[in-house]
Amino acid sequence: MSKFDRAIVRVLPAMPRSLVRRISDRYIAGTTIADAVRVVGQLNAQGKMATVDVLGEEAASRRETQDFVRAYHDVFEAIERERLDSNVSIKLTALGLNLAYELCRTNLFKVVRHAAESGNFVRIDMEDSSTTSDTLELYRELRAEGVDNVGIVLQAALRRSIRDIHALAPLRPNVRLVKGIYVEPPLIAYEEYEEVRQNFVRCLHELLQAGSYTAIATHDELLLSEGKRLVSERGLTRDEYEFQMLLGVRELAAGRLVRDGHRLRIYVPFGERWYRYSLRRLQENPKIAGYVASDTLNRLFGADGR
Ligand SMILES: Cc1cc2nc3c(=O)[nH]c(=O)nc-3n(C[C@H](O)[C@H](O)[C@H](O)COP(=O)(O)OP(=O)(O)OC[C@H]3O[C@@H](n4cnc5c(N)ncnc54)[C@H](O)[C@@H]3O)c2cc1C
Repeated sequence: MSKFDRAIVRVLPAMPRSLVRRISDRYIAGTTIADAVRVVGQLNAQGKMATVDVLGEEAASRRETQDFVRAYHDVFEAIERERLDSNVSIKLTALGLNLAYELCRTNLFKVVRHAAESGNFVRIDMEDSSTTSDTLELYRELRAEGVDNVGIVLQAALRRSIRDIHALAPLRPNVRLVKGIYVEPPLIAYEEYEEVRQNFVRCLHELLQAGSYTAIATHDELLLSEGKRLVSERGLTRDEYEFQMLLGVRELAAGRLVRDGHRLRIYVPFGERWYRYSLRRLQENPKIAGYVASDTLNRLFGADGR
C-alpha cells in the first residue's frame, strides 16, 4: 500500500457515510433480502455457490438478537423458495455473545435448527480474539448434541489456531480458513504479512491431514496456489474442499478458479447495517486512494473514473 493509500485508510472513518457507501457498493448485495436473492441467483448462474450474511454485529439487546434470528429464518425460506445454492454465515455477537453466553447459545441453536429444516448449513464467522474461546465452545456444544450442519472459521493470524486445529481434530470440523481481519496484540497474533501466510499454509496442511472439509478463503495469489497444490497432492475430489471469496473482490481470479473446475463460494452480505463491514473491506483494498479519487471525480464531473 502506498503512503497515500495508508493516509486514506486512516481518514476513512471520518468520511461522510454517503461516500463510504458509494465506494463500498460492490462489496454488498444491497439492503434487502430481495437484493441478496438477486445477487446469489447471478452468482449461481456463473457456477458459484454463496453464503449469505445478514449484516450486523454486537447486538445491544435481547430484542435485537431476536431480529437477527428472524432475519436468518427469512433467508433460509428465501434460499429454499428460490432454489438457490447458498448457505449462511453468522456472527455470534449478533446473536448476543457479548450480552450473555446462554442467550447466544439459545439463539444459535434456533438458527441451526431452522437451517436443518431446509437441509441447510450455518457457518459461524470468527470475530475478534475476545470471542474465540466462546465461539469454539459453542461449536463443541452443538457437535456434542449431534448437530453437524454447522462449521467454524479459524484465523491464520492467531498463534492459537494451530493448537485449536489439533484440539478439534477428533471432531473433523468443517472449517473456513482465513487470514483474520481483526487487529490483535502481538502476544497472541502474527504481525508480519509473511508470517500470517506461512501459518495459513501450516494450518491448511493440518486441517487436510485431520480429514476436515476445508474452505480455503483467500484472494492471495500465493495462498490460492498453495491451496490448489495441497488439495491436488492429497488427491481430493472437487466436493471434498472449496475455495471462498468475498463479493466484489478479485472477480477475475474467482472466474479462473471456477473455470479450472474448483468449487467456489462467494460471501454475500446484505442489510441495513452495512457501515462497519464496508469500512473493513475498504481498509483492505490496496487501491483505496484510487477508488476515493475516482468517486470524487465522478461526482464533480460526472465521469466514470473507475
Ligand atoms: C469468504 C470469506 C469469509 C471471511 N470470514 C472471515 C471471518 O469470519 N473472520 C475474519 O477475521 N476474517 C474473515 N475473512 C477476511 C479475511 O480474514 C481477510 O481479512 C481477507 O480475506 C483478506 O485477506 P486475503 O487472504 O484475501 O489476503 P490479502 O493479502 O488481504 O489480499 C490479497 C489480494 O486480494 C485483493 N484484495 C483483498 N481485499 C480486497 C478488497 N477489500 N478490495 C479489493 N481487493 C482486495 C488484493 O489484490 C490483495 O492484494 C473472510 C474472508 C473471506 C474471503
